[in-house]
Amino acid sequence: MGELLAKFAPYYAVDVALIVQKYGGTSVGDADRIKAVADHVARTRRAGHEVVVVVSAMGKTTDDLIRLAGDVSSTRPPREMDMLLTSGERISMALVSMALADRGVEAASFTGSQAGIITDTDHTKAKILEVRPDRIREAIADGRVPVIAGFQGVSTSRDITTLGRGGSDVTAVAIAAALNADVCEIYTDVTGVFSADPRVVPLARRLAKVSFDEMLEMAATGGRVLMLRSVEFARRHGVPLHVRSSFTWQPGTWVVEEEPSMEQAIVSAVTDDTSESKILVHGMPDRPGTAAALFRALADERVNVDMIVQNESRDGVTDIAFTVERTDAERAVAICNAAREAIGFSSVAVDNEVGRVSIIGAGMKSNSGVTATMFETLAEQGINIESVATSSIRISVIIRSTQVESAVRALHTVFGLDEVR
Ligand code: ASP
Ligand code: MG
Repeated sequence: MGELLAKFAPYYAVDVALIVQKYGGTSVGDADRIKAVADHVARTRRAGHEVVVVVSAMGKTTDDLIRLAGDVSSTRPPREMDMLLTSGERISMALVSMALADRGVEAASFTGSQAGIITDTDHTKAKILEVRPDRIREAIADGRVPVIAGFQGVSTSRDITTLGRGGSDVTAVAIAAALNADVCEIYTDVTGVFSADPRVVPLARRLAKVSFDEMLEMAATGGRVLMLRSVEFARRHGVPLHVRSSFTWQPGTWVVEEEPSMEQAIVSAVTDDTSESKILVHGMPDRPGTAAALFRALADERVNVDMIVQNESRDGVTDIAFTVERTDAERAVAICNAAREAIGFSSVAVDNEVGRVSIIGAGMKSNSGVTATMFETLAEQGINIESVATSSIRISVIIRSTQVESAVRALHTVFGLDEVR
């Protein structure tokens, strides 16, 4: 057993661990990948462990189905979209089960509904309300490997639902929590969670361990490895995650409860996100209730607002800027405009050329000077900071999108994250 495994996964040393293995789209991308997955499941079983498999749709299947839906329909009724998209995961679950049978591993596939994933009725982005894994438990007790279709469930009104893009991660964590599994392994095409996007920072390093809190901040600020909701779910239910590669099968990154005794890096990761737009609302009357009315209007139309900055007011008026997903930007402007007269601000504009860079680290809590170092580093690069947001373990800045990559690289270096090769 590797040193790392011994350190972070003592349960691998126990006789039988219950391991949930989730395989993403690239991990089951073609017949050879599916056979490699089946080999690994068989290997894990031979080592004496119980395995429950959760699969995503093969490769780009979900994207292809969404495109196909668009070709036949401009309305794309959400209930039918869910019926369509869940078929992708059904293909994977059946093929993986067949490949397992060939390896002498008894397996049985289950849709989300069969696996007892009960959701609300919010089609295309349903939330899991409850997991009733009776059939999964029975299959395990019968010595079979359950292979569960990720990303889907059945609603309280008995319709098939999906959990939002990337939702197989949520399925895996929910199943792991319901079964009280020892670990939820998330297999993907990268070797773990990195200190920055390796495409931006060639010297980014794989992190052996991050805390749930750090992972949440990373997922929320542009880290692309794990779906945000799955990390929230894992933290709430105390499910240890192990993000690792189905191409190398090497140990990857553990996402675990923070242990007070562990030494914490001041900065563990630098993330970037250029998927948001900035909305600028000018001439906002500065009195109680105006900001509330604006953000209520946006919330009622389910626009997710991220960073918000309000300027010092002058002569009773102020400016408010906030960020939204770029895909929501036009809608957000329209909603603001519709509320303009009632609220009394003068104009609203959108800026698509913004990017956000964040530094994240659990050790920030107990170290001063991190903000100063970050701002000095950006200044040395000639980068102007347009707004700032912080949590106890994160500092985010909004800058020009063209400067995001140089900002990430400079911060990665200054906080000592570059891998020594
Ligand atoms: N197949 C779904 C998607 O592409 C769910 C997943 O892969 O997690 O979003
Ligand atoms: Mg995915």
